[in-house]
Parts: sequence; structure tokens; C-alpha cells
Amino acid sequence: MKNEEIVARLNDLHLQIFPLEDLAAHVQANKTQSVKDGDQDQAKQLWIYQTIIEIHQLYRNAFTLLKEKSYYKGWCQLERVEIAFHNLKRHFSFDKKKYFLWTIEKAVRNLQIIFPYKMFGSMEIVKKKVTCTVCNQQISIRNPCAHIVGEIYNGEMCGRYVIEADILAISLVENPGNKYSVMFLKDEKTGEQTDNYNYDILDYLFNELNITSPYEFWDLEVSQREIQLEDYGKIGRNDPCSCNSGTKFKNCCLRKVGDKYPHYEFILVNPSDKNLFINSLYKTIH
Ligand SMILES: [Zn+2]
Ligand SMILES: [Zn+2]
Repeated sequence: MKNEEIVARLNDLHLQIFPLEDLAAHVQANKTQSVKDGDQDQAKQLWIYQTIIEIHQLYRNAFTLLKEKSYYKGWCQLERVEIAFHNLKRHFSFDKKKYFLWTIEKAVRNLQIIFPYKMFGSMEIVKKKVTCTVCNQQISIRNPCAHIVGEIYNGEMCGRYVIEADILAISLVENPGNKYSVMFLKDEKTGEQTDNYNYDILDYLFNELNITSPYEFWDLEVSQREIQLEDYGKIGRNDPCSCNSGTKFKNCCLRKVGDKYPHYEFILVNPSDKNLFINSLYKTIH
């Protein structure tokens, strides 16, 4: 396949009319040829195309998993999309229209916001033995190699393998380098991991608002709201509380009045509609 044809297909990825694996195989074949020909620029360009295909694939995987309510697995795919974007942006800048990347990046960020995970495990390690992914040489401060991490050599991004390391500590943080380590509880009886997170907002997006395609555009606005007395309707201080707790209103939910909570507003747009922003549907939940 010619590179121009590859670009044409990249432009139509959101239509989902051809298998991503086939396109990826064509790109890989062209890249192998470019490396053989010693054309480093071409090989790098094809690495960019590969990364774009990878982003679409990971994002589609995440979408399917979330729709099936496999939330943690979906989360890990989103994390991989974020890392792929980080690598891509070093070598390629895109505008709103290019290869649907802008829409995917926005969707990933919004999905991460509505996930209930807020704290992550982070490992503090001392790397004892590190090698270069390009030349396999063992690297140390006194003994560096000529390759720069993140740069593209022969169509591959340079990284480091950590062969040996000591773990010093594991801490809980809000913003680790990667967010794969989500904390789960263990069931005391069975010893199995349990998931006690509340995924209501994700569930609402995928099942009630019924987002059906990973390429359907939607947006999110988050604001802080306060619980108002009126939110409980007509209820006396000494009436049984409407939350069915069995206690009086004044000793129960009345105490929550004034508490702040995040309010999520979804903005849906039907992309098949020619007047993109006219057919907007606003839905709110808290
Ligand atoms: Zn090297
Ligand atoms: Zn109550």
C-alpha cells in the first residue's frame, strides 16, 4: 500500500470501515522497507502513523470495555491511550480535524474525570541495571549511549529497560507518573479483590445516554453545587427522613444542606447531523 493510501485511510478511521489490524500490517511492512532503504525520516513518519492507529485501537478497546462495565480494564486502556498521546505529541502536532485525535483526547480526559479513582499507588524504586532499547547497552551515568529516550531510531521509539531494581516504598498519591495502580479492597473471607467503587456516572453515560459509538462526540462540564433544603421537597423536621434511614429528617439528611458536591453536565452532539451544534442535548445528573 502506498503511503498516500495509508494517509487517506487514517483520515477515515472514525468511519470504522476497514480493520485496523490490516492497516497496521501495511504500515509495518512499509516501515520495514524504509529501514532497509536507510530512510530514517520515512521510518519516523510511519512510526507516527503506527502510533495514531494504536491510539484508535486502544481507545476502541476502552470504549467496548466500559460499555460492558469492565471498568478497571477500561481504565487501563485509557491510561495506555494517554501515554501513547504523550509519545506522539513529541513528534507530531495535530489540530482539531486531524485523524479524530482531538476528539479522542478530549473523550479520554473526560472519561478519566468521571471515574471514581482519585488515589493511586506509586512505587519509589532504585534502578540498578538499565539497558537501552535501541542498542541494548547497559547504561549508567559514567557509561551513557548515543540514544536519547523518546527519540525515534529505525522507526522505533527509544526507551529504557529496567532489568534490576530495588523497591524502596509504595505510597498513595493523586498524580503519579502512571495511574495503573488503583487501590482495591480484599474480601476478608475469600481473600479475593472486591470493587467497591461507585461507577454510576459512567454507567449513566454509557447506558442511559446510550453513547453507541466511540466516535460519537460528547463533552462534559463539571461544577460545584450545594445541597439545598428545597432539594428534599416538602418535609417536616420531625418527619421520617425520605432516604429511608429510619431516623428523623432533622437528624439525617437535613444535616447535609450546604454540603458541596460535584455536578456533571453532559453535552451530546449527534455527529451524523450536518448542523453539528444545533442538535445538542443537555443532560444533568449529580
Ligand atoms: Zn542506545
Ligand atoms: Zn436521610
